[in-house]
Amino acid sequence: MKKISHFIDGKAYSDEKSRIGPIFNPAIGEQIAEVELANKTTVEKAIDSSAKAFLKWSKTTPINRARILSKYKDLLINNMEELSVMVSMEHGKTIADAKGSIQRGIEVVEFATGITNSLKGDHSSSVGTNVDSHTLRQPLGVCAGITPFNFPAMVPMWMYPVAIACGNTFVLKPSEKDPSCPIRLAELAIEAGLPEGVLNVVNGDKEAVDTLLENKKVQAISFVGSTPIAEYVYHTGTKNNKRVQALGGAKNHMVIMPDADVNKTTDAIIGSAFGSAGERCMAISVAVCVGKQTKEKIKTKLLEETAKLNVGPYTDEKSDFGPLNNKAHFEKVIGYIDSGEKEGAKLLTDGRNFKKQGYENGYFVGPTIFDDVKPEMKIYKEEIFGPVLSMMTAETYEEALNLVNDHELGNGAAVFTKSGNIAKHFTENAKIGMIGVNVPIPVPVAYHSFGGWKRSLFGDHSMHGPEGVRFYTKLKTATVTWSEDNIGPEFTIPVLS
Ligand code: NAD
Repeated sequence: MKKISHFIDGKAYSDEKSRIGPIFNPAIGEQIAEVELANKTTVEKAIDSSAKAFLKWSKTTPINRARILSKYKDLLINNMEELSVMVSMEHGKTIADAKGSIQRGIEVVEFATGITNSLKGDHSSSVGTNVDSHTLRQPLGVCAGITPFNFPAMVPMWMYPVAIACGNTFVLKPSEKDPSCPIRLAELAIEAGLPEGVLNVVNGDKEAVDTLLENKKVQAISFVGSTPIAEYVYHTGTKNNKRVQALGGAKNHMVIMPDADVNKTTDAIIGSAFGSAGERCMAISVAVCVGKQTKEKIKTKLLEETAKLNVGPYTDEKSDFGPLNNKAHFEKVIGYIDSGEKEGAKLLTDGRNFKKQGYENGYFVGPTIFDDVKPEMKIYKEEIFGPVLSMMTAETYEEALNLVNDHELGNGAAVFTKSGNIAKHFTENAKIGMIGVNVPIPVPVAYHSFGGWKRSLFGDHSMHGPEGVRFYTKLKTATVTWSEDNIGPEFTIPVLS
């Protein structure tokens, strides 16, 4: 059986003493490979390799770092087919979804190729007589990234391209559920000319994460995953004096005003609630209709369109979405549907007994819609992370906004309306990190920054864009005078080690 190990110092690294984890093809529910789960020694080897590489890489000029990233971008584009199959086979999403997500990652690489501009400092002349002041942004050292199963290519690419463009070196610990693509991403980086050790990948679980959180050589941790683990990573990492950005789970609401276009809004709900089987941190999982009539109109159209969805494996081009990623997650999502039914929500479509012919053991859940969901229900309070939509009715816009603001998670939210006033009010007053106005999945482009509020992000910085550059650099301010007394032939520049 195919075995996936680690990527350290520019080549595959395997440790026979490692524990092993299974990798499944979720469409057929069968194990297709196994992955080494790194022990402390393996993770330390990767950290040491990155610490050594930092000495040279941090002194490489930003333009030369950018040139390598530019070659890397071309290689990623040229290898899109292979990468997308790797993602789909181990994650379960359709090829179109996999390609879309890799494209989003490539855009971050593209942003990172402009690092010379992002690293420019400020300059103030004559802060005193003959005195100038300027700022520098300098790299931190070894940075680490810990990523979730739902975007095995894109989420790692939110992190390391920016980190290494800024002059850091990076140890990536991707999800142990779909590790093939992250290893391939690192191989391509070496092919593009990235020096050995600048990007290392260790596969593993809690033992690997804890080693990264505790090791003194690691300066910063970027994490994306569920809220409880994000909170754990944030507290443990900061206790160990590291800079940490930890992005957690989501419960994204769409507020639908009475003036919203029914067809466009319904299309938006279908794509954002069920696309990628709802395994997206920006998925819409709650549709809040303002007024009973709005709800009835949306509901009728939604049921009509949901019935047309094709659920199936990535190998079938007609599939709109695929299975859930793994059996434990499949059972968790089924458990949430059971719980919603028990708590009295009205099940309009039930995806629990969905079976795809020829794929009976796959982890498929059909599109599921609950109506009359109440704020105290578990299916409302918690993230489900499956193709399950909750519908709610609010009497007024204010009531809908309060629902959004009272939820403990604050990743994304959208408002669908023709009213500029409502759109502006929602944008300014929703306690949410990423807002969509008539846009269901408002994922910021690479040169803006991605991140939520409340218990969807622990730490001070979002990812990529300007916030990513701030996270991966330390600010230094120099105050300089060159009066005549300071300049002389005997002046020598000290050699720094
Ligand atoms: P997860 O929290 O289970 O795992 C994320 C990472 O943490 C993995 O690399 C995993 O190996 C590691 N991990 C798991 N348990 C750990 C433990 N006890 N101690 C230390 N490390 C541990 O998340 P997941 O199930 O892989 O991914 C789904 C979650 O990710 C969802 O909650 C989703 O909303 C979230 N997510 C958030 C964003 C965002 O931008 N906010 C983006 C994508 C996914």
